[in-house]
Amino acid sequence: MRTVTTIEAVRATLAPHRGSGPIGLVPTMGALHAGHLALIAAAREECETVVVSLFVNPSQFGSGEDLDRYPRDPERDGELSAAAGADLLFAPSAAEMYPEGFQTAVDVREMSRGLEGDIRPGHFSAVATVCLKLLNIVRPDRAYFGQKDAQQLAVVAQLIRDLDVEVELRSVATVRDEDGLALSSRNVYLTPDQRASARALPRALEAGLAAYRNGIGHPDVVARTILLGERDAAIDYCELARWNGRLVLAAAIRLGETRLLDNVILEGAQT
Ligand code: AMP
Repeated sequence: MRTVTTIEAVRATLAPHRGSGPIGLVPTMGALHAGHLALIAAAREECETVVVSLFVNPSQFGSGEDLDRYPRDPERDGELSAAAGADLLFAPSAAEMYPEGFQTAVDVREMSRGLEGDIRPGHFSAVATVCLKLLNIVRPDRAYFGQKDAQQLAVVAQLIRDLDVEVELRSVATVRDEDGLALSSRNVYLTPDQRASARALPRALEAGLAAYRNGIGHPDVVARTILLGERDAAIDYCELARWNGRLVLAAAIRLGETRLLDNVILEGAQT
């Protein structure tokens, strides 16, 4: 695996590979875990060349969010990416991605509203902008995103449709710990007590899914009731959303300073 830090080097490295089988892109913010590795594995399975990007995008963090303390371990990320079968790791600096004078932003209007979008104003515009840049830099045939960030997936899908980006979007099922908690780079922030409380999130979503399947109705109310029973958890939202033709029950909670988000699909296949 090669590691490069400049856009020019990505283009030069990929030039000989274009036309000889599909190129896959897996965008990440690093601090890789088995969830990221599932995306890389999915890309490895169906692409000739696999590119992983590693960029903690400053513009998608609001003021007071965890940009400064976001876990970073580029050396380990390189080792894990290589072991998972990546061919190229693109790890640009912020200056490489946003040089002096940068001024464009992409706004996916409807899809960026509600749930995460309301809690983190400007977040999805920053995500859409950096994703479009990465798609333009790598020009992959396929791009791999996690269902874990369901609204982000919907924003990227809309962006690809609206701006005629020539790429197939693939979504990968959420990878979870043994106790059901969705893997996240932010899980390392949790104290042991918070880690125990965090299990309420997948438990609540599973109960919502069961209520939906059994026709009991109001899966969001069922899930919210369970979350309310977890005294240490503050609920940002626990709502139904229809994204990409899927009906999703999505929730975000805060445990101390740490935000956790998760969702389950109620209707529509996980492709
Ligand atoms: P991040 O590094 O958190 O920006 O995530 C990079 C990509 O990995 C996104 O497409 C996420 O949705 C995906 N991802 C994060 N956590 C998981 C997980 N537990 N299972 C599957 N995909 C994930």
